[in-house]
Amino acid sequence: MVCKGICVRHKALKPIDIGRYLSGQKRCQVCQVFMIWGGFYCPCCGYRLRTKPRNKKYKSILNLSKVYQ
Ligand SMILES: [Zn+2]
Ligand SMILES: [Zn+2]
Repeated sequence: MVCKGICVRHKALKPIDIGRYLSGQKRCQVCQVFMIWGGFYCPCCGYRLRTKPRNKKYKSILNLSKVYQ
């Protein structure tokens, strides 16, 4: 799993601290970037993308956003 530099083309532009995952952006742990990509695997290194927040704080924010939608 190596970053080939392809991810920069799909890199998510606007950094929104809370809305990363909510806005459909996915995180590649290898490339260490958030990107907008339809697949489950990184188009750059092939590593499986993280689509959901890991910690509970993020989850509660997710639930809250559902309520307020
Ligand atoms: Zn990459
Ligand atoms: Zn990657």
